[in-house]
Amino acid sequence: MSHILVTGGAGYIGSHVVKLLLEKGYKVSVLDSLINGHIEVVPEEVNFYQIDLADKEGLDAIFEKNTFDAVMHFAAFIEAGISMNEPGKFFTNNCSNGINLLEVMMKYDVSKLIFSSTAALYGDPIQTPIKENHPLQPVNHYGTTKLIFEKILSMYKETYNLKYIALRYFNAAGADQGAEIGEDHDPETHLIPLVLQTALGKRDDIKIFGTDYDTEDGTCVRDYIHVSDLAEAHLLALENLLEGGQSDQFNLGNGKGFSVREVIEAAKKVTGKDIKVVEAGRREGDPAILIADSTKIKNKLGWDPKFTSIEDIIKTAWEFHMKHPDGFKKLSSATFFELLSTPTRAGN
Ligand code: UDP
Repeated sequence: MSHILVTGGAGYIGSHVVKLLLEKGYKVSVLDSLINGHIEVVPEEVNFYQIDLADKEGLDAIFEKNTFDAVMHFAAFIEAGISMNEPGKFFTNNCSNGINLLEVMMKYDVSKLIFSSTAALYGDPIQTPIKENHPLQPVNHYGTTKLIFEKILSMYKETYNLKYIALRYFNAAGADQGAEIGEDHDPETHLIPLVLQTALGKRDDIKIFGTDYDTEDGTCVRDYIHVSDLAEAHLLALENLLEGGQSDQFNLGNGKGFSVREVIEAAKKVTGKDIKVVEAGRREGDPAILIADSTKIKNKLGWDPKFTSIEDIIKTAWEFHMKHPDGFKKLSSATFFELLSTPTRAGN
């Protein structure tokens, strides 16, 4: 069975993909700095390397030791709002460190990559729902880092015959069946976990960032897609490349938009809790409406998302939040450095 390297496999989407890969019988290695990832979500049966993509020698040693058939690249900084204040951090991690990964892949003849991209590439939509050929004009630095990396991938394709599939996620949400893994960022900036933390009494209120957008109720509209449906799409993309498929880009969304107010109302219904809402100013870098047209991946790869209702998506996230009200354990700095000095857990 193929051996897949997952960067950022201790993160939210990466951990759901790792779980699915293992269920399908793949051999999996995970590489994660644990700056944002959680060791608890990495299953025992994977080779785990705590390493930052900035560490070229460390990367080389991992590729020297293993023969990977493909790489799935999730490791990145993701908070659009934070990217507006700390662009250097985002360009270094999401672009420069990504090049370190590509260079080591080329050195060891690993020529297949699935890339975690984003709807933030499109910026303020000119047409909606958004198709893959929509103009790429990000309005935040996070989106720009992902656009630059997609361009870099196309250059590696031309120069080295890299085969890659970029998956442009809309708003990932929800949690795995069983609620063992789910969304836990620090700081948390995403709407659904913040609303649910408010329902749990962990926060006093949920702030609506902007009520004067040109939308039906004045709040931003997003397309929420369940993380398990995202994971299935990654598997299809991987299988496609392993079977000799060509490089491509695909949107991943539900094709339905929900406003911030609608999400909060749905969360009230699912949790049965009253959730205090505070109207606040706009957050910098937020397009008013982002809705996906995902026809391309449905037609080309047969993707068939299961979660289409916002209540169902929120329900799975709520189960996770109730099971992990304080999120995953935060590593003490002693444990962090101890893990760092023993870079592989599985002894491979
Ligand atoms: N949002 C909000 N309050 C919050 C967090 C987010 O009103 O506390 C809004 C945000 O402005 C955006 C939508 O909810 O319009 C979804 O934001 P999120 O950060 O979840 O995802 P993004 O669309 O930025 O990827």
